[in-house]
Amino acid sequence: MTDQHLRPSPISATVDFEADGIQHGFLRLPYSRDDSAWGSVMIPITVAKNGEGPTALLTGGNHGDEYEGPIALFDLARNLHPAKVQGRVIIVPAMNYPAFLGAARTSPIDKGNMNRSFPGRPDGTVTEKIADYFQRVLLPLADVVLDFHSGGRTLDFLPFCAAHVLPDKLQEAKAFDFVKAFGAPYSMKMLEIDAVGMYDTAAEEMGKIFITTELGGGGSATAKSAAIAKRGTTNILRHAGILKGEIDVQPTQWLDMPSGDCFAFAEDGGLVEFLIDLGEAVEAGALIARIYPTGRTGAEPIEIHAKMAGMLVARHFPGLIKAGDCCAVLAVAV
Ligand SMILES: [Zn+2]
Repeated sequence: MTDQHLRPSPISATVDFEADGIQHGFLRLPYSRDDSAWGSVMIPITVAKNGEGPTALLTGGNHGDEYEGPIALFDLARNLHPAKVQGRVIIVPAMNYPAFLGAARTSPIDKGNMNRSFPGRPDGTVTEKIADYFQRVLLPLADVVLDFHSGGRTLDFLPFCAAHVLPDKLQEAKAFDFVKAFGAPYSMKMLEIDAVGMYDTAAEEMGKIFITTELGGGGSATAKSAAIAKRGTTNILRHAGILKGEIDVQPTQWLDMPSGDCFAFAEDGGLVEFLIDLGEAVEAGALIARIYPTGRTGAEPIEIHAKMAGMLVARHFPGLIKAGDCCAVLAVAV
């Protein structure tokens, strides 16, 4: 996919990825605009390196309104002692930094959705330039990639860590070992609605061990969801052999998304009433939600039924829904 003849990335790092010790710096992306003629987007980055060993690339804020990752990674960046590292940790707490500052899923500069922009372009939009830098500079440095997500402002999830079913079964098995080590309350064999353009896919196609999360949602983090993210990050670094110490083993419920029947989309907008909450089980055909037309009283609601038996693992958030929105996601316990 990557064109050999692409121009170099316009992004320059103020950190040296090969230097031992800990460095806090920036990925500086030139961005000329009304309020800053020769200005830049300054994406915070931390690199901690000590001797030889594997590299973990840890990212949050791929979507700007998902907060567990940024909380865990800003916290890790100030607490990580390079002498305790064996190998290298690269931390980017807010990957789509303009989206993060805008508290939005996509970038306010170009409306770019980072997780639909890979492999990116060095001569593209701001979001595409960031994606290209990850594609051609940061991902090749990594052995293990952990990318944090949550539901953002329009979804809410049961807290889970996830990996994908892959054609390379050894790569897949290693990824699921990392999911287990992360120790979220739920662990998911994840199915994507459309995997094209995702960071996940870019990393996996490069042969990297890639794991991700969905740890909550609604456009904020809770004490519980932030704690899951922090513990999971440490566990991943320990499982990789980058940090010493025992993995803080937690009980987890494994879940599978066996087919597209997992997803239920709204075919019309309105006021949504869920009949079950996250973590509750339904039989196939059961009523999951009603969507009331908001224009008049006396109209019948649209009903959302389960296309398969399963547990509600994600739901629309907050109270109003539009045609085409993802209303509910089911998964099965394994
Ligand atoms: Zn996300």
